[in-house]
Amino acid sequence: MTIMKTKRPLEGRTALVTGSTSGIGLGIAEAFAAQGARIVLNGFGDKMQIEDTRQKLEQSHDVAVLYHGADLSKAAAVGEMMAYAKAEAGGVDILVNNAGIQHVAPVDEFPPEKWDAILAINLSSAFHTIRAALPDMKARKYGRIINVASAHGLVGSPFKSAYVAAKHGVLGLTKVVALEVAESNITCNAICPGYVYTPLVEKQIVDQAKAHGVSRERVISDVLLKAQPNKRFAQVAEIGALAVFLASDAAQSITGAALPVDGGWTAH
Ligand code: NAD
Repeated sequence: MTIMKTKRPLEGRTALVTGSTSGIGLGIAEAFAAQGARIVLNGFGDKMQIEDTRQKLEQSHDVAVLYHGADLSKAAAVGEMMAYAKAEAGGVDILVNNAGIQHVAPVDEFPPEKWDAILAINLSSAFHTIRAALPDMKARKYGRIINVASAHGLVGSPFKSAYVAAKHGVLGLTKVVALEVAESNITCNAICPGYVYTPLVEKQIVDQAKAHGVSRERVISDVLLKAQPNKRFAQVAEIGALAVFLASDAAQSITGAALPVDGGWTAH
């Protein structure tokens, strides 16, 4: 008896997820792999651990998983990564701009080099990947661009000038790209998470506990989740599930949108 394998929804598609060696990006990459997409991972980390992650994803989901270690703060490196994705994976059908860094300081004490790095990684890298990916998406008449912004793309918080400016910029870029390619079955949307439990958040818990001289539990309840009405961290799988939906045919009319996943934070 022949066992017929059902075709998974994203078989034949390639999803490139920036900053996918950890946290939300890895969760999104895993969600796309589960739908049958070929994956291009990117991000920093220990070489052996990254290779281990790559192999595990490949084996668990029976898809090809590639990796490119481009430093997204450098436009030329982004170009090399996009050329690699075209040569090795046939181009990018689903582009997820997720890589991001954070630095917290009052604006008059904010180190200019941190400002430049945050703008380069959190905002400009998305411009560089999008401009490289669009010609192939237009030719195929299919493309899904998903920018992982933040609730801080919609509202501000003290001490996060560069991050908030970059994430607001991502929402602006999202709208313009959506308008420019609306007739080509290419959508461009932003996901705006509140707090999601990842290594980036763990670092903030540790830093703020040290800065304020209080316990991590106090930082979680009184600082991080203070503005998040449902009082829980979102999980990376929830962001992955939304990204998969945005890549589906059912979401083809959703474009130029900023979608909060923030437990009600921006409803205030
Ligand atoms: P994370 O620190 O766990 O992961 C960040 C990823 O970006 C890693 O893979 C890292 O290697 C990569 N990266 C950093 N600098 C890079 C560079 N120069 N070149 C290439 N890769 C680089 O963080 P996370 O919490 O998973 O955050 C992912 C995205 O989600 C970020 O854009 C962040 O702003 C956004 N976000 C996170 C939260 C949250 O609560 N975790 C909330 C809102 C938005």
